[in-house]
Amino acid sequence: MRVVIVGAGILGLSTAWALARAGHEPVLLERGPIPNPLASSHDRHRAIRVTYGAEHGYARMVLDAFAAWERLWADLGARHLVETGQLVLGPPDEPWIEDSLASLDRLGVAYEPLDRTGLARRFPHVRIPADHAAWFVGRAGALLADRICADLAGWLRARNVELHEHAPVVELLPDRPAVRLEDGRLVAGDALLLAAGAWTTGLVPALADRLRPSRQTVVYVRPPAAFDAAWRDGPLLTHKDTRTGFLFYALPAVAGVAAKLGDHKFTLGGDPDADRTPLPEEVGAILALARHTLAEAERYEVLEPRTCFYTVTEDERFLAERVGRAVVVSACSGHGFKFGALTGEWTAELLVGRLEFEAYRRWLAGGG
Ligand SMILES: Cc1cc2nc3c(=O)[nH]c(=O)nc-3n(C[C@H](O)[C@H](O)[C@H](O)COP(=O)(O)OP(=O)(O)OC[C@H]3O[C@@H](n4cnc5c(N)ncnc54)[C@H](O)[C@@H]3O)c2cc1C
Repeated sequence: MRVVIVGAGILGLSTAWALARAGHEPVLLERGPIPNPLASSHDRHRAIRVTYGAEHGYARMVLDAFAAWERLWADLGARHLVETGQLVLGPPDEPWIEDSLASLDRLGVAYEPLDRTGLARRFPHVRIPADHAAWFVGRAGALLADRICADLAGWLRARNVELHEHAPVVELLPDRPAVRLEDGRLVAGDALLLAAGAWTTGLVPALADRLRPSRQTVVYVRPPAAFDAAWRDGPLLTHKDTRTGFLFYALPAVAGVAAKLGDHKFTLGGDPDADRTPLPEEVGAILALARHTLAEAERYEVLEPRTCFYTVTEDERFLAERVGRAVVVSACSGHGFKFGALTGEWTAELLVGRLEFEAYRRWLAGGG
């Protein structure tokens, strides 16, 4: 089958991978270069973790996602996952943590509570409030996102898959199904996937009330030298207190990539095509959060702040819609990268008619 895919982020690329390895003919159309540095998928690393609060369906999917990444590594001949574990921090009765641990128990995923002595000894760069606690979960890591996207594009090119860079789609013709490019050309196929990330509603305005672009800031930092070793191949950090709306995270300095700090609070604003220069107050807000989690946080040097866009749904579940014969998918809300290879496989099955749409939609929304 010839399948037209709009958007070459992780969703478009991995769906093309799954289609091509099954003998189909994907055609990728991307408004910028492939990979596009403006895509949500473009960053040095992205977290993969099984802790998912009450969203047990997504926790279970993460285990399938690990297996799907292994299939991708085998094809790429490179393993772009650094297993780091995750340090979960927060009040002992934090509901998200209680639910996450219950989910890990059901899935048989090991974790260990750390007392304050153990925390200080193993993770000297972490310093949390006296009434917060810590757990270490071994099954977590950092996916080297930009290397994954670049290698996927290379794998597709090597198999002569049609990748069209700088080919913005300006109109969906979902009943054919086909799309119109900015230069007027029509590109048609047997199936059509819109995987356009934060730009989706430009082509499907009817989704504007359900899919909201959200400008987010991350900050790459250099820790004080005394903590170098702790950050190098250290764990992901997730520090959460839902009573106060606090959610700080950090990715370690792995594979030559600097440590990265961020938060999971949606701004629900901004235009992905506007100036992306991070504002001092955006950077300042992340550094202020870090002071609740990191020892000597004021001594961290900012190397590079970055602006990136989430595409957020109200309940943070991934969205799939049919528009005529086209399928629109947004697997984001700030947590979609970890499922990349797996989502590609499921989306390919849907597009070639081997999976019912409702079953796919339920699965994508974390419903199993
Ligand atoms: C700051 C930040 C931190 C995150 N952290 C994590 C994390 O730790 N773990 C995790 O699992 N997930 C994380 N995510 C979420 C994850 O990155 C996204 O879920 C995922 O990358 C979405 O991929 P996508 O392919 O759907 O969209 P995108 O990567 O945005 O790809 C969409 C592509 O479509 C192209 N396009 C758009 N419109 C058109 C058009 N009209 N014509 C042609 N091409 C078009 C765009 O140029 C783009 O390349 C994070 C996201 C952000 C922003």
